[in-house]
Amino acid sequence: MSERIQAPRGTYDVLPEEAARRAEVEAIARRILGGAGYGRIETPVFEATDLFARGVGEATDIVRKEMYTFDDGGGRMVTLRPEGTAPICRAYLEHGMHKLPQPVRLWYLSSFFRRERAQAGRYRQFWQIGAEAFGSEAPEVDAETILLLAELLEALGVKGTRLRLGSLGMPETRAAYRERLQAYLHTHEDELPAEVRERIDLNPMRAFDADDAGTKRVMESAPRLMDELAPEDAEHFAQVRTLLDDAGLAYEIDATLVRGLDYYTRTVFEFTSDALGAQSGVAGGGRYDKLVEQIGGQPTPAVGWAAGIERMLMAGEGVRAPELPVDLYVALAAADARRAGFRLANEARRAGLAAQVEVAGRSLKGQLKHANRIGARHVAVLGAEGASVKDMESGEEETMPVEQVIPAVLRGRR
Ligand code: ATP
Ligand code: MG
Repeated sequence: MSERIQAPRGTYDVLPEEAARRAEVEAIARRILGGAGYGRIETPVFEATDLFARGVGEATDIVRKEMYTFDDGGGRMVTLRPEGTAPICRAYLEHGMHKLPQPVRLWYLSSFFRRERAQAGRYRQFWQIGAEAFGSEAPEVDAETILLLAELLEALGVKGTRLRLGSLGMPETRAAYRERLQAYLHTHEDELPAEVRERIDLNPMRAFDADDAGTKRVMESAPRLMDELAPEDAEHFAQVRTLLDDAGLAYEIDATLVRGLDYYTRTVFEFTSDALGAQSGVAGGGRYDKLVEQIGGQPTPAVGWAAGIERMLMAGEGVRAPELPVDLYVALAAADARRAGFRLANEARRAGLAAQVEVAGRSLKGQLKHANRIGARHVAVLGAEGASVKDMESGEEETMPVEQVIPAVLRGRR
């Protein structure tokens, strides 16, 4: 025997029961997001590498070490999408969506690819549901997206959620703050581990994310961006908070919240769940008013989020796959009924019934047991003289010519 080939590390198969659960997740997302005017969008699995290098940011972990990038054989560098926002900005531009009434609201359910250390809740191919709203800087849109995300998490039964909220202001404020933070970190270099020290110049805000005690102590007294926001950014943030307060959504203000993507401006947020272990992030997002410009468009304010499907399913028990009943199971009492049985099942399906026919050569007793196990509502046993149709719920049984089986099941289904 040859060596068995296995799925690549960090990937997994979605088996039928799980696929049915996910279809339910999708239906719930469509109801909530579609109901708020969000239209479904699907972009390609791969994009020009430049889109992410420019869009997500050269200094981010994603671009520096997590992307699956390759030459497609024709001298073009392409990347398997590591996130959904930059591709949707590209699509917004490419299809001239700025000419539509704004805001343009879009949502997606897609798979994404990051070369990360695989562990529970962290995969190399994973799925996200995301929503993006383009063309408005109104704080109502920030609040709307956050409230829709909260509603989605609730509808999926995600347990123990906490919302953290912050504001990053605009790039100029951030640049000035960044220099102050860098200066502060440099004066504390001897208290920081190498990996934090190395990033002082590249991405100092990530130091707020570090878990080691030394860095945590240093960061407690570090300057906070939220104390330095420009008045209009502080006002925008206050309005977002008021709208969330009005809606009764609980949140914590976190002045140290930094997201792993460079494109955020103003509002940023993250939902975590206490029901998850180390990978507690369920969803995150924020406003990205400069991103569309950064990839070559006109200035276009926008806000959005992405939620991890694996983590939502892990932290929730609310989603159950709907049962798919079998209306008719065609059992065979005699070997020469095979042809008639096959034909009956096919015709039943064409008449709109969910129908299956015995093909495994089981004994009649085995067939009835199987029909029971798959939840068949009716079983038609085909013999030499017609069929005997049993209603599995009432136990009623009736003998009839084969031609009458489908009408009888259709009648009984009502
Ligand atoms: P983390 O801090 O866990 O690395 P992140 O900040 O990289 O998350 P985002 O890029 O904001 O995550 O993506 C939004 C959501 O997508 C996360 O909250 C998480 O639920 C999910 N997610 C991100 N990366 C992965 C992954 N490798 N495997 C599974 N889910 C993921
Ligand atoms: Mg990450």
